[in-house]
Amino acid sequence: MAGRFAPSPTSDLHVGNLRTAMVSWLMARHGGVPHLIRVEDLDATRVKAAPRVAARQLDDLAAIGVGSDGPVVWQSERVALYAAALDRLPTYECFCTRREIAEASSAPHGDGYRPYPGTCRDLTPALRAARRGGRPPAIRVDARAAIVTVMDAWAGEVTAEVDDFVVRRNDGAFAYNLAVVVDDLAQGVTQVVRGDDLLTSSPRQAWLARTLGGREPRYAHVGLVTNAGHRRLAKRDGAVTLADLRQRGWNAGRVRAVLGASLGLCAADDDVGMTDLLARVDPAVRPASWIWPGA
Ligand code: GLU
Repeated sequence: MAGRFAPSPTSDLHVGNLRTAMVSWLMARHGGVPHLIRVEDLDATRVKAAPRVAARQLDDLAAIGVGSDGPVVWQSERVALYAAALDRLPTYECFCTRREIAEASSAPHGDGYRPYPGTCRDLTPALRAARRGGRPPAIRVDARAAIVTVMDAWAGEVTAEVDDFVVRRNDGAFAYNLAVVVDDLAQGVTQVVRGDDLLTSSPRQAWLARTLGGREPRYAHVGLVTNAGHRRLAKRDGAVTLADLRQRGWNAGRVRAVLGASLGLCAADDDVGMTDLLARVDPAVRPASWIWPGA
């Protein structure tokens, strides 16, 4: 049994990511299970700076007091696992372009995700052979519109119909949804704390976990940190990373206290370590979304 924090090394962690990481660590410690860190660098071949960015992310997490109780796992080293899992799933090749999907599907969901309408599921062998000559296919699961209910520690039951989502992209890369589920199963992850932008992905991931013969973890989706306009915090919102904040004279301890205060666990000017916050955390209380006041 374990909890984990799994950043993608696309850019430096901002205070929203650090806050979620703190909650992940606190929930694991409170539950008495190890806390693991996994680098989700499957796109590393496209993001050249990924190893450097990942190293900085790990440093920043360590500075805040969020560590890994086991070796840090790098997804780029685990593609054989994803390939083996893919072989065990009901799948089909999909030749659709983004545009074809947009034209054939219903309006996108609130999170911008467009459920796949299943166009390529029932291609005749002749049509499939014809399309094979063109662009390489993506691989989709054949989920048969399964209805899946997952439990979130704070949101309660979340039920959704699972569409035929992509598990291997047409550039050959394994998709996030596949890798995350395979790794959570392989690492014995029983508790997933992450931003609530991923809440709607959890029924798809639970379907995968069950189809691979496992069980999904217990989810706990944390409210996001936003800018004053209630939009998800981003780099353009000023000093939002530890490096930015250090330049403004903040040390990691101050960042930790300000984030701890946003969780209702201390005052923003307290001198607190993660173990102090652990003594005060109440896992029944959902970390609500929070507007970053700026530095
Ligand atoms: N790597 C994903 C991200 O940074 C998070 C994956 C997860 O927690 O399930 O958005």
